[in-house]
Amino acid sequence: MGDPSGFLKHGSRETPVRRPVPLRLLDWKEVYEPFPLETLQVQASRCMDCGIPFCHNGCPLGNLIPEWNDLAYKGKWEDGIERLHATNNFPEFTGRLCPAPCEASCVLGINQDPVTIKQVEVELIEKAFEDNRVKPVPPSKLTGRKVAVVGSGPAGLAAAQQLTRAGHTVTVFERADRIGGLLRYGIPEFKMEKRFIDRRLAQMEAEGTVFRTGVNVGVDITADELREQFDAVVLAGGATVARDLPIPGRELDGIHQAMEFLPIANRVQFGDLPAPTITAEGKKVVIIGGGDTGADCLGTSHRQGAVSVSQFEIMPRPPEQRADSTPWPTYPLMYRVSSAHEEGGDRVFSVNTEQFVGEDGKVTGLRAHEVRMVNGRFEKVEGSDFELEADLVLLAMGFVGPEKPGLLTDLGVDLNERGNVARSEEWSTNVDGVFVAGDMGRGQSLIVWAIAEGRACAAAVDRFLEGATALPVPITTSTMPQR
Ligand SMILES: Cc1cc2nc3c(=O)[nH]c(=O)nc-3n(C[C@H](O)[C@H](O)[C@H](O)COP(=O)(O)OP(=O)(O)OC[C@H]3O[C@@H](n4cnc5c(N)ncnc54)[C@H](O)[C@@H]3O)c2cc1C
Repeated sequence: MGDPSGFLKHGSRETPVRRPVPLRLLDWKEVYEPFPLETLQVQASRCMDCGIPFCHNGCPLGNLIPEWNDLAYKGKWEDGIERLHATNNFPEFTGRLCPAPCEASCVLGINQDPVTIKQVEVELIEKAFEDNRVKPVPPSKLTGRKVAVVGSGPAGLAAAQQLTRAGHTVTVFERADRIGGLLRYGIPEFKMEKRFIDRRLAQMEAEGTVFRTGVNVGVDITADELREQFDAVVLAGGATVARDLPIPGRELDGIHQAMEFLPIANRVQFGDLPAPTITAEGKKVVIIGGGDTGADCLGTSHRQGAVSVSQFEIMPRPPEQRADSTPWPTYPLMYRVSSAHEEGGDRVFSVNTEQFVGEDGKVTGLRAHEVRMVNGRFEKVEGSDFELEADLVLLAMGFVGPEKPGLLTDLGVDLNERGNVARSEEWSTNVDGVFVAGDMGRGQSLIVWAIAEGRACAAAVDRFLEGATALPVPITTSTMPQR
């Protein structure tokens, strides 16, 4: 530990400044200003190197946080990235997008602001790329075994990188036209610029991972062909079935799932489309769903030029500070303001939508009312009915699980009680040689869990193929809830 009194000397936590709202709404670039390395080193020195580093448990990857905080403080960037990569294939994704359960369980957070762990993470990897230190790590010998990974989100990519480095010949199949899963088509540029995915894919290709886009497994290659052609299969197809709102008026034009809206906005940024085919421009937008996906729709709507945006959430407004029900070191239930929330819009809590209304087949508004929780169920607050105008409604109410018809039914994999692919502790399904990782087995979750599961699943596949494995398995005792 470099500075035993760092947390005393530097009491306040500093994080990067967000660009001014009026300026950042003019573009789609990430919202944060650069963070000076000297400030980062001071912040890293606040880490107390606790006897029991609860941050390890907070992190599903078991990141070695006090070790790399110390290395960052001392400016030992090369050692720092080596310790970070030891547990996380893609710190540039988690360093930007993770809700940072590590910070929620930081011991300093008991009576001061926690260490800026996530910022140290992202700066370590950015410095490494800048210094040209992120090199391909090709295997020293090939095993001759072939592995198919279905889906190229963070779970599939983590599994593929680990298995390629273990010497297996890995092909990642992706039905979309680009690699990345929700990182590519769900998450907007202003949260993570896609060049960060491309940079990592170049490393993976140089290591030998083969990417095949535009291949819908189960259609373009059958389940039987997949099992015949490969020694093992990793299912990492995500939880892509969105929760719907089957209320009167749902059939009206102008009501879309978030994952119909966000990919189009991303495609405009990639240059695929001159303008979005579903747009918030000039519209009164209502987003139903108060989570991350809803916030992504909010930031996108503002950048497209919405007239007004309301974001509805059925749950009550959380408390300003950590709720008593989620004491340290658990992930706190509390009111959060993302960069998109800072940019405008009304956040409406404890609200239920009961009907969409429209004219000439197009949505013009919705009817809703307040709710309160009674004995674990929502009850209408009588007399609280209201109507709100809307000419674009975006449904962002989460995902109910993976798609069953096609690949999953053809393979004959069992599902669990939640409708996700059932798996053993060894990440295997009931079908010999078929494994599962990420949202497809876990249900809708987080990038950090997808990477952790991809890594653990890769170790299990390697053991299945070779009888033993040297691949590391993350500590997955995190107190972080699903999402
Ligand atoms: C809008 C949005 C924003 C989010 N923001 C955050 C965030 O800020 N932080 C965070 O931690 N998490 C966030 N999440 C959640 C996070 O993105 C997911 O938990 C994570 O991407 C899951 O990874 P995965 O690899 O399991 O699946 P996915 O990323 O969903 O990737 C699955 C891939 O499999 C492909 N596929 C499916 N079936 C087939 C098939 N039969 N053949 C070929 N390919 C197939 C799909 O096309 C897809 O590309 C967000 C989710 C959404 C929807």
